[in-house]
Amino acid sequence: MVITQQKNRIFLSTPHMSGNEQKYIQDAFDTNWIAPLGPNVDAFEEELASFVGTRDAAAVSSGTAAIHLALRLLDVQKGDKVFCSSLTFIASANPIMYLGAEPVFIDSEPETWNMSPQALERALSDAHKEGKLPKAIITVNLYGQSAKMDEICSLCNKYNVPIIEDAAESLGSTYKGKASGTFGKFGIYSFNGNKIITTSGGGMLVSDDVEALKKARFFATQARDVAPHYQHSEMGYNYRMSNILAGIGRAQLEVLEDRVKARRLIFARYYQELSSIPGFYFMPELENTQSNRWLTALTIDEKETGISIQSLLEALAEENIEARPVWKPLHMQPLFEGMKYYSHSENDHVAEQLFKTGICLPSSSNMTEIEQQRVIQCIKKFL
Ligand SMILES: *Cc1c(COP(=O)(O)O)cnc(C)c1O
Repeated sequence: MVITQQKNRIFLSTPHMSGNEQKYIQDAFDTNWIAPLGPNVDAFEEELASFVGTRDAAAVSSGTAAIHLALRLLDVQKGDKVFCSSLTFIASANPIMYLGAEPVFIDSEPETWNMSPQALERALSDAHKEGKLPKAIITVNLYGQSAKMDEICSLCNKYNVPIIEDAAESLGSTYKGKASGTFGKFGIYSFNGNKIITTSGGGMLVSDDVEALKKARFFATQARDVAPHYQHSEMGYNYRMSNILAGIGRAQLEVLEDRVKARRLIFARYYQELSSIPGFYFMPELENTQSNRWLTALTIDEKETGISIQSLLEALAEENIEARPVWKPLHMQPLFEGMKYYSHSENDHVAEQLFKTGICLPSSSNMTEIEQQRVIQCIKKFL
């Protein structure tokens, strides 16, 4: 058998524990709170709400579950329309389908790569004329960068459509000094293993509407009515977060600001080493916003550089480095064939362009400078 000497794999985004997680897990074991509720869950909810500045937060089993609950709280039903960013992970839109509603996809704009206010305006105006406004819009903050929330909020206020802010990737980011994820009626965060902080799997639904989050917890625990026996008048889900995982979340939240600093430093190093290469364009940061730079993303112009995203991904893979293309827009997914989609402008399909030319580089907060140099040198060598 030939044993080849392989360089250690560099991953796109890995968990980064602080060391304090074990303390909270031990507490859960010591008190036998091995359940989808308990003191760590209550504390994690309070601590996260206080960190982002909302009145309340409900810890759930995933970011997807949080979106599902938000849509349910907004009474989204079969036949309803929900607008959703097109350039995102499938989890933003799957819950629309769970409820039998119909997604309408909104293109990105070039300054944040997120929902285009001008596309949203056309979509809302058309829906208004048809007499069927969406029950909600789901706007996503890609790779940590906030969408143009002022413009999006003012359009949604005008038409009185509630916003769900999918901040799964933007915990720790700010927009005009206010936490990303706190601009809509509801915001959601994810603690999946690849996110900036993780509980291995988990999510949080945040809102200033304390009553709504009470109802969210009710739906998330099988919608059990108050009664001595098992009594149910509504359909529920099993979506609460485990008390053990909430313990991991508490320790992770303590180091969130460090993780943001580390990821921003990684972005800064890539930028310093690669941004002067003609045809390399890094994801912008909108004025008055601060991105957590969850993933360093950039576009590469094939004409200027002579290389395609595909070939660069292969070159990195050969060096045992994990990189990824930018999300494939949802309106291009076979699952959503035939669904309505609004482009940024008639001739500008921004999300499609970003998908064709965009790449995400390894951005783990625990990636060493030496590892990052390996990524940078691999890219320079390939050029
Ligand atoms: C990760 C992610 C989600 C889903 O979160 P899970 O916790 O994995 O269910 C939703 N939206 C976006 C944009 C994400 O990146």
